[in-house]
Amino acid sequence: MIAHLFNAPLGESQAAVGVGTVGSSEAIMLAGLAFKRKWQNRRKEEGKPYDKPNIVTGANVQVWSSQSKPHRKNTIGGREWLERPVSNPERAVLGSIVMRKIHMQNSPFWHVCWEKFARYFEVELKEVNLRDGYYVMDPEKAVELVDENTICVAAILGSTLNGEFEDVKRLNDLLVEKNKQTGWKTPIHVDAASGGFIAPFIYPELEWDFRLPLVKSINVSGHKYGLVYAGIGWVIWRSKEDLPEELIFHINYLGADQPTFTLNFSKGSSQVIAQYYQLVRLGYEGYRNVMENCRDNMIVLKEGLEKTGRFDIVSKENGVPLVAFTLKDHTHFDEFQISDLLRRFGWIVPAYTMPPDAQHVTVLRVVIREDFSRTLAERLVADVEKVLHELDSLPARVISSTSVTVNTEQNGKVVVAKKSALETQREITAIWKKLVLERKKLNDKMMLNRIKILTRVYSDDVNYTIGSPDPPSLKWPEQPVLNSERAVLDSNVMCKIHIQNGPFWIYILTHNDHVWNDPFPK
Ligand SMILES: *Cc1c(COP(=O)(O)O)cnc(C)c1O
Repeated sequence: MIAHLFNAPLGESQAAVGVGTVGSSEAIMLAGLAFKRKWQNRRKEEGKPYDKPNIVTGANVQVWSSQSKPHRKNTIGGREWLERPVSNPERAVLGSIVMRKIHMQNSPFWHVCWEKFARYFEVELKEVNLRDGYYVMDPEKAVELVDENTICVAAILGSTLNGEFEDVKRLNDLLVEKNKQTGWKTPIHVDAASGGFIAPFIYPELEWDFRLPLVKSINVSGHKYGLVYAGIGWVIWRSKEDLPEELIFHINYLGADQPTFTLNFSKGSSQVIAQYYQLVRLGYEGYRNVMENCRDNMIVLKEGLEKTGRFDIVSKENGVPLVAFTLKDHTHFDEFQISDLLRRFGWIVPAYTMPPDAQHVTVLRVVIREDFSRTLAERLVADVEKVLHELDSLPARVISSTSVTVNTEQNGKVVVAKKSALETQREITAIWKKLVLERKKLNDKMMLNRIKILTRVYSDDVNYTIGSPDPPSLKWPEQPVLNSERAVLDSNVMCKIHIQNGPFWIYILTHNDHVWNDPFPK
């Protein structure tokens, strides 16, 4: 059924093959393995070396992890700082607000599938970098990267970052040309994890699948737009010849010949049955209705966000029904703060930076699934407006004056120089003082928000530890403070802030339980 949906050539003598997997990730491993083996077999036949396989993908397929690129420079909120891996004890003492931010930046929280495939199966990953305003793999650049050792080019139908469909047809045409010139047979894999159950129903004219001759395999997640609960994905090969026979195991102890090609062994079949049930029950029409509905709700959300006048939309209307958006103006706050405040209303809207070379762009993303109704879309817009209003009401100068650079004159030219530690220290102290004074005028909830936001702002530039309050002697535990210990600290929390070369102290006069243990009180 799925091969048919993807327009595999299914004549009398033709048969597509495929397997059910745990998800697209496993499907990608298997598809990659088949390409690698096919490429190796051909190289062996030709008497050529077969020890340096590579795979070409866009940098949008995966997100950097702390192990692979620990010292990336990053620019969020208009400021540049060096990221470094955070040790576990350090993590323990950071407040949960900062924790999340670090998690966002340093952990491989998305699809590392392709990187994982490359590492586990010893294939070099050649990535096409993104650029401003263009967040998918550029087919021209991808084909330039292809060489005789390329096992396949992996295109994505529905980029994780902004939902955009890559131009698989253009990639196919360029690669046909290159293969003709070079005599290579570089094939294409389409990672259609999301798009595989969207495009056939609402963009049936779009040629991205087996209609294109170089597309040899496609993966899709049943648990995304396939409308099945978690634990099911699929990989389909165009024909039997595209899956090397030596990778298939035949077992017969269950009563009949059972060919298998998986990375796991025993797995429940409930999801397979659920997928079958959904396909049969909903049919083509049913899936189309669901997908159209998702797209309509996506448009409601997109237009609502546009109407605020504060965001640029970076997702496309044709693609996965999601809205990816970025702030027009970063002077006073950034996307991470919006994401944080939205949690208070029960929304988990991730904020993340784009991969190279668009890493200076931070994006918020909302994925519309079948159960995300129009009412919910409208409510989210209303909550975003509330959050914007709240962030706007912060004293503007407080936030903008935290930049760690100053302008100085040098030979008549204004240059940006780093502020001295003392200057930064004075500035931050002044801001906090003001904040504490203002506290009297504010209600508690507002105060909590300000503290959260300011803490976030500083955490870009400084590290801080939370300690037990003991103002007269300033005796602070140097050791990490455990949650349980933190719970018994009394209501005044202190922050120890290290700026460049020296620690100094700051009091946050508020209830620590609220600030540190539960950043989003009801
Ligand atoms: C979700 C996704 C994956 C991983 O899929 P799982 O089914 O969660 O394993 C891989 N690639 C892309 C483009 C995805 O969107």
